[in-house]
Amino acid sequence: MVDRLVNSEANNRRINFVEQCFGSSGQPLVSPGRVLVGEGVLTKLCRKKQKPRQFFLFNDALVYGNIILHKKKYNKQHVLQLENIKLEDIPDDGVYKNGWKIINPSKSFAVFAATATEKKEWMAHIKKCVYDLLIKRGITQTSEHDSPVWVPDQNAQICMHCKKSEFTVLNRKHHCRKCGIVACNACTSKKWLLPQQSSKPLRVCLTCYNQLSLSSAPPVSSRDNNKIRKYTPINIPDSDDDSSDDDDEPTPSVDTVDNNTYESQFQSYEAEEVPDYKAGQTHQ
Ligand SMILES: [Zn+2]
Ligand SMILES: [Zn+2]
Repeated sequence: MVDRLVNSEANNRRINFVEQCFGSSGQPLVSPGRVLVGEGVLTKLCRKKQKPRQFFLFNDALVYGNIILHKKKYNKQHVLQLENIKLEDIPDDGVYKNGWKIINPSKSFAVFAATATEKKEWMAHIKKCVYDLLIKRGITQTSEHDSPVWVPDQNAQICMHCKKSEFTVLNRKHHCRKCGIVACNACTSKKWLLPQQSSKPLRVCLTCYNQLSLSSAPPVSSRDNNKIRKYTPINIPDSDDDSSDDDDEPTPSVDTVDNNTYESQFQSYEAEEVPDYKAGQTHQ
């Protein structure tokens, strides 16, 4: 049981080690009551391609980062609170196998394990940890503020909103931050404040914009909607703004540092029979 690991020396050593691997690029991970339940490599589907990421499952958070040196150095740390996380199965198709979605308010995405068994193990462990945490904290989940999983760029040749506009070098692809579709600039020319994802208003498609406007519309009696609207929309030109905030990893050069292929094996610490953490498999 996970509870047995709380305050155990091995658990503290493991969490310290993960913290060290992220160095100053990450936030402190050592926290009272926190247990590192397991870890492993999963392939994360980013906007343009699939990239290996090291995932750490804690009893209260899911942490992942970019692998610079496997089991030694990571950066670009992301910490997702487990109480907000939901999983959604992705059925195997010709291209993608053993995948599932990790849904959360800040940024949802798809991950893939190497085998069906590993997928099953990962999903079971994450679900169990989420379940236990919700029970412990006496809370239930809502999906109101969940962020969309972005449709990968390559899945859209034409705008998924107007279904007319063809993408070219000049007619660039944009993502709606509310529903995740790939759409043209004209169809994503509005912005809306989605506080779970960013403090700045984000690009949304016209359908989502209309829905958001309706759902946050003030009482009919008010004469000027714009005055009380949380955010006054502006039309945004098709500039480079998207390349920086659209993309998960704006500096792809770092990804080439460690190009090994990894097994996505879920290394579980629940058994606690692992005498030495560092004796675990290295895949190099
Ligand atoms: Zn369009
Ligand atoms: Zn949308």
